[in-house]
Amino acid sequence: MHDLTQCVRHPAVSHDGFASLAVPTYRASTIVFDTAADYAQRQQRGPDGYTYGLHGTPTTRTLEAQLTALHRGERTVLLPSGQSAIAITLLTALLPGEHVLIPDTAYPPVRGFCVNYLEPRGIAHTVYDPMLGAGIAALIRPETKLVWLESPGSTTMEVQDIPAIAAAAHAAGALVGCDNTWATPLLFKPLDHGVDFVMEALTKYVGGHSDLLLGSVTVRDITLHRRLKDTMRMLGIGIGPDEAALALRGIETMGVRLAHVGRVALDFASRAASFGAVERVLHPALPSCPGHEFWKRDFAGASGVFSLVLKPETTPRLDGALSAMTRFGIGASWGGTRSLLVPMPVRTDRVAVPWTETGLILRVSIGLEDTNELWDDLSTLLRALEAR
Ligand SMILES: *Cc1c(COP(=O)(O)O)cnc(C)c1O
Repeated sequence: MHDLTQCVRHPAVSHDGFASLAVPTYRASTIVFDTAADYAQRQQRGPDGYTYGLHGTPTTRTLEAQLTALHRGERTVLLPSGQSAIAITLLTALLPGEHVLIPDTAYPPVRGFCVNYLEPRGIAHTVYDPMLGAGIAALIRPETKLVWLESPGSTTMEVQDIPAIAAAAHAAGALVGCDNTWATPLLFKPLDHGVDFVMEALTKYVGGHSDLLLGSVTVRDITLHRRLKDTMRMLGIGIGPDEAALALRGIETMGVRLAHVGRVALDFASRAASFGAVERVLHPALPSCPGHEFWKRDFAGASGVFSLVLKPETTPRLDGALSAMTRFGIGASWGGTRSLLVPMPVRTDRVAVPWTETGLILRVSIGLEDTNELWDDLSTLLRALEAR
C-alpha cells in the first residue's frame, strides 16, 4: 500500500485482554458500510443502529443507556445543554395552535423560550402556581398538550405534587414533562410518578466538575423517543463523544458527591435559620419549605442546593459581604466541586404568584471543600449582613 493510502487507514490492533474500566471515546462523522446494499438500506438499522455520527456513537449510546437505566425508562436522547433539552421537548410536544402550562418557578429561560420563540409561532403558554396540585385541571384547555414541571422550583424550592398534576394532565389528554436537574435520578425518578418526559441539565450534578454542558430527555414511551429524534434530526442537533465520556465518568462518583453535599447543605440550612440576617430558609427537607410533605413522600433525599431569604435591611451590605468571601465563589451554574453563592432576582420573575418578600434571595450550592472552612465563610457572611 502506498504511504499516502496507508496514512488514512489506521492499522488494526488487538483488543484482546484490554479489559479497561473506562468507556472509550468514539469519534465519528461518517460511518462506512460493507456493501452498497447496506448503505442503501441504512435507514432500516432503526433508532439504535449507527448511520451517522450526529445520530449516535457507542460513547453517546452508553450514556443514553446509563441514564435510561437510572430512570427506569425506555430511551434517552442527549442534547448540547439543559436549555436545549427543554426546547427540544417543547418543540416535540407542541404544534401551532396548542398550549403549554409552565410553573411560575421554572428555570427562567423556559419562560423566555415560551415568550420569545413559541408565542410568535402560535404556541401559547400559561404560567401557573407550582403548588396548585390537582387544581391544575382548571387551567387545562382542550388545546393544552403539555404540562411542564420543575420540582423543587428554581431558587424558591417549592416541591410540586407531581402525581396529582400528572393525573390531571393525563385525564385531559396532555403530556407531562419534568425538569429533574436538582434531584438527579438518584434522588427522584419522575417516570415512576406519572411523568412522560424527564429532562435534566447534565451540566450540573452528572458532570459534577463545572467543565461540560449537556442535557438529556428520558422517556418510557418509545413513540415519544421517535418524535424527539425526529425533531433533533430536522434541526441537526446531536452531541460530541467527549462530553458523553465526561458525563459517564461524572455519574460514577455522583452517588458519593450527592450524599456529601446533601448532608452538608441540610446542616448549613438548619444552622443558617438562627442568624438575624435570615428571614427564611428554603430547603425541601425542612418543614418550612412549601411542599415539604411531597418531598418526604416522593424523594429519596436532598441534594446540595438551597436558598436563604434575607431580611430587606441586609440588601445594602450584601455586595460587599459577598465579595469578601474566601471559600464560596459567586456564580450561577451549580452542581460542581466548588461551593457557590448567588443573589437571585425572584420578585421580577414571578407572575402567577407575586413574590411579596422584599429581601434578596441568596442561592447556595454546596461543593466538596472542607466543611469547617465553608461554614466559617458562610457564617462570616451572615454575621456581616447583620452588623449595624
Ligand atoms: C442549569 C439548569 C438548566 C439549564 O442547563 P444548561 O446546561 O446550563 O443549559 C435547566 N434547568 C435547571 C433546573 C438548571 O439548573
